[in-house]
Amino acid sequence: MVDEGLTAEQVLQRVFGYDSFRGSQAEITRQLIDGGDALVLMPTGGGKSLCYQIPALVRPGTGIVISPLIALMQDQVDALLALGVRAGFLNSSQDYQARQETEQALLAGDLDLLYLAPERLRLPATIELLDRVSARTGIALFAIDEAHCVSQWGHDFRPDYLELSALHQRWPDVPRIALTATATKATRDEIVQRLDLGNAAQFVSSFDRPNITYRIVAKDNPRRQLLDLIRTEHSDDAGIVYCLSRASVEDTADFLSQQGIPALPYHAGLDQRTRRDHQARFLREDGLIMVATIAFGMGIDKPDVRFVAHLDLPKSVEGYYQETGRAGRDGQPATAWLSYGLQDVVQQRRLINNGDGDINYKRQQTAHLDAMLALCETVQCRRRQLLDYFGQSADDCGNCDTCLQPAQSWDGTVAAQKVLSTVYRLHTERRQHFGAGHIIDILTGSATAKIEQFRHQQLSVFGVGADLDPVAWRAVIRQLLAQGYLAVESDHGTLGLTDKSRDVLFEHAEVRLRRDPERRKPVRTKTAK
Ligand code: ADP
Ligand code: ZN
Repeated sequence: MVDEGLTAEQVLQRVFGYDSFRGSQAEITRQLIDGGDALVLMPTGGGKSLCYQIPALVRPGTGIVISPLIALMQDQVDALLALGVRAGFLNSSQDYQARQETEQALLAGDLDLLYLAPERLRLPATIELLDRVSARTGIALFAIDEAHCVSQWGHDFRPDYLELSALHQRWPDVPRIALTATATKATRDEIVQRLDLGNAAQFVSSFDRPNITYRIVAKDNPRRQLLDLIRTEHSDDAGIVYCLSRASVEDTADFLSQQGIPALPYHAGLDQRTRRDHQARFLREDGLIMVATIAFGMGIDKPDVRFVAHLDLPKSVEGYYQETGRAGRDGQPATAWLSYGLQDVVQQRRLINNGDGDINYKRQQTAHLDAMLALCETVQCRRRQLLDYFGQSADDCGNCDTCLQPAQSWDGTVAAQKVLSTVYRLHTERRQHFGAGHIIDILTGSATAKIEQFRHQQLSVFGVGADLDPVAWRAVIRQLLAQGYLAVESDHGTLGLTDKSRDVLFEHAEVRLRRDPERRKPVRTKTAK
């Protein structure tokens, strides 16, 4: 039980054991304690929790925390209990009795903090419960964690979050704090509008993580490239390797282990015990690499992760930022490394096309992907572009690949015309659609069996691209896809034209492409794919 009448700073020191507030924590807690509303944008690891935990302890009544991270509630509550803070949670993972006990403690005024899953707000019983709390011991504040979930355009929309405005209508005098680590200017505006936070003070922390070196490389032989990165720059370091699929998580973890590098897999297909065990080992042991899907990382607080590697393209800049942000929380130099290639663009575009959701949803997914692709294909400072995405302006950083090894752009108009006219020919003459590999065979004039079968040596474009090698053509096609000059048309990754490609074919629009820096020749092995 926390003593009555402590100041925010005393709570910080005596309850949480920290010397001083960090960043704008002091101003934010003051705002809430004084009864005002706040919108807080702080990167992951910035220290958002204290911003509502401390005011909840200082103000009379119980602080109600709405959080979609049900899986973390037990851990959060346990951590608070260990500090002597009276905390509880209500979510669907509990049995009836546990819920009853929490409700009784709440009504008796025995809880400083209550974590509440958003879907519980749909239940009239929850509102009645809060009514009784409000009448008896009072509600100290409402904290809305992961507030970007209210944004229908965001990458993480939760319909239940729309119910949150009802809380404010019912209890207009209770101060509210909305927190998120990921919000563009547009998302921020949407949070303000949907949660009626027009009068809230906004606290926007810098999103820059200056100790992280950003690097995005052309995917060539990703596992070998990864091995190269680990061996040359991060031997014996702890790191996280993100892969898109469970199978590739398993394969990559096996591959690293075979190479004598300690690595463990983590994905939602593993049973809970294995997941827990791997996570605990990652936190405890030095120099362990976690190979994981994005199911891993939420709530993980390991300060000395020296690198985060992505073997596949993330779906959004928000996701990329959040995942790479797990590197270097101790402020020491760390690497964010991503390998990205033609197949990533084809695959992601295809996932969107074939996925669930209406046209608006797909358009939104496409916009997220396009922003991520723009970051991959930029010839400018990566950090600048990343921060710009989060509405923050910056100078060239000197600590990303394009700053350290300036990337050139080149006039790719002729190359683009060659690719696009090949796609056009295949489209009109044959009513057949082909993927990138076949198009490259035509351009470079290689007479494969498939070329013979379709008599594609007879096409006027056969061999017109002999000036570039297949790797260079893949880079061209990758960028044409990234920039929307080509579309993925089917499940098999066949390519088609777009409105934009017609400008290149018929209006001679100019196309600028990025020249991938010289590839380091990786040592090839048979096992690596
Ligand atoms: P976020 O929710 O923004 O990702 P957390 O609230 O989980 O961040 O805090 C991240 C880490 O920083 C935690 O380990 C927390 O204990 C620590 N921390 C937060 N505020 C302070 C502070 N004022 N002094 C020292 N450590 C802090
Ligand atoms: Zn830079």
